Amino acid sequence: MNDNKATTVPIELLRKYDRPGPRYTSYPTAPVWASEVGTDFYRTALTNASKQKDTPLAIYCHIPFCECRCYYCGCNTVITRNSEKVGLYIDAFKKEIDSAAELLHERKTVNQLHFGGGTPTYLSNEEFSDILDKLDEKFTYTTDCEKSIEIDPRVTTEEQLKFLFSRGFNRVSLGVQDFDADVQVAIGRVQPFDLVKEKLETCRKLDFQGINIDLIYGLPKQSIKSFTDTLSKAVSLRPDRVALYSFAFLPSVKANQMKIKEEELPVTEEKYELFAKAVEMFTEAGYLQIGMDHFALPNDELSVAQNDGRLHRNFMGYTVQTSPDMVGFGMSSIGYINNTFIQNDSTLSQYMDHVNETGFSVHKGMRLSDDDLIRQYVITSLMCNFRLEFSEFYKKFGIQYMEYFKSEHDNLSEFFVDNFLEAPNGNIRITDLGRTFIRNIAMTFDAYLGKNREGKKPTFSRTI
Ligand code: SF4
Repeated sequence: MNDNKATTVPIELLRKYDRPGPRYTSYPTAPVWASEVGTDFYRTALTNASKQKDTPLAIYCHIPFCECRCYYCGCNTVITRNSEKVGLYIDAFKKEIDSAAELLHERKTVNQLHFGGGTPTYLSNEEFSDILDKLDEKFTYTTDCEKSIEIDPRVTTEEQLKFLFSRGFNRVSLGVQDFDADVQVAIGRVQPFDLVKEKLETCRKLDFQGINIDLIYGLPKQSIKSFTDTLSKAVSLRPDRVALYSFAFLPSVKANQMKIKEEELPVTEEKYELFAKAVEMFTEAGYLQIGMDHFALPNDELSVAQNDGRLHRNFMGYTVQTSPDMVGFGMSSIGYINNTFIQNDSTLSQYMDHVNETGFSVHKGMRLSDDDLIRQYVITSLMCNFRLEFSEFYKKFGIQYMEYFKSEHDNLSEFFVDNFLEAPNGNIRITDLGRTFIRNIAMTFDAYLGKNREGKKPTFSRTI
C-alpha cells in the first residue's frame, strides 16, 4: 500500500532540478518523430494491428474548434464561428474513421474513447451525434469502456451534459485554470467560480465518474495569496481528480501568448512556491499525487490502480484501461498503432485535403526499435506506478536491468542522495518527495535527449 503523506517540497530542490525536459506523454517524444513515417507506414501498422482482433483499442478524437482564443493556450485550435467549416471537418473526420476501420477490419472493440480539443463541447448535439453515430457504426465498446470528454464550463450547457451522458460518456474534465478574477482577465478566460461549481454539480448529479478539473500554475497575476485561494476553492468542490499543469510561456512559438504581459508572470521562485503550495494543499486535503502533476481522491480508480501498479498513461492522460493500440482521429491527433506513433497534420486545410484525397492525413511518426520499447517500458513504469520491479522487467524482455542500464543506473545516484528514490529489495521505488521530480528521473533513461532527427535541439518546457 502506498502511504502518500502530506508532502512539502523544498524550494531549493525545485530550483536545483528545474530544467527543460519532456512531459513523457510518449516515449520517444514527438520532436524525434520523422516525416518519412507517413501514410504507407500507417496503413501497414493498422493492417498488422487488425490481426489482434480480440484486443481492445483506445480512440482519441480531436475537435479543434473554439469560439475565441485564450491567451495562454498552447493547443492546436481553430478559432471560428463558421458552421460550414465545422461541417466540412466532420465530413473529413468520418471519412478518416471509415479508412481506419476498413484496415482494422475485425478489430472493433474499444475500451477507451476520449474527446479532446480545442473545445469538444463547441459542437452542437446534432454534430456530436453525427460523429458518434459513425463511431458506433464501425466500433463496439466494452461494458467498462471509459468514455471521457473535455468540458469548457463557459460553453457547455446542462442540456449538452445530459446529451453526452445519454450517449455513454462517463468521465468529464473541466477546464478551470484559476479562479482569481484578475488572473482570468490576464489570461483571456473569464469564468466565475459559481459557474464552474454549477457545471461540476450538474456533472455529479448526472453521475459522471472521475470528475477532473484542470488548473495551471505560473500564469500572469498569480501570487501565492491568490493561488492559495484558488486551491481552497478547488478543494471545496471536491473533484475526484485534479490535473495541475505548469504554464509554458513560449510566445515565439505560440503567437497568442504575446497578449500575456511578461512582467505579470510570477518569477521562477514564486512559481516554485505556487507548485509546492498546490502539492501541500491537495495532499493535506486527502488527495494522492498521481504522477508529478495529477492528484486523485483515494477511492478514485486512478489512485487504486496506482497502488496496485496497474496505472497507464497515454496522450489522453492517466488511465486504468490497457490498450496497446490507440487510434487518433482529427487534425493534429496522435495515435499509437503496432508500436508506431502517428501524428496527423496540424492545420485544418491540410488535414481535410489529405483525408479527402487519401483517407488519411499523416504528418509524421516513428516506428519503435527494441531499445525504444525497453526504455518506453521503464519510463512508463516510473511515471505511472512510481516503481520498477527488476523481475518484471526480466520477465518482459529476458534482459537483466542492471546489465542493460548500468550507466543509467549509476546516473540515478544523485536522486538517491536527494531522497527521491529508494531501493526496496533491489528494485527502484520513487518516494513521495521524488514524485515531483519524476520528469527529471525519467530523463535518465531517454536515449534521445538533446537531439532530434533533424539535428535541431527540441524546445521543451521546464520540468517544474
Ligand atoms: S478553450 Fe482551451 S483549446 Fe480553446 S483557446 Fe482556450 S485553452 Fe485553447
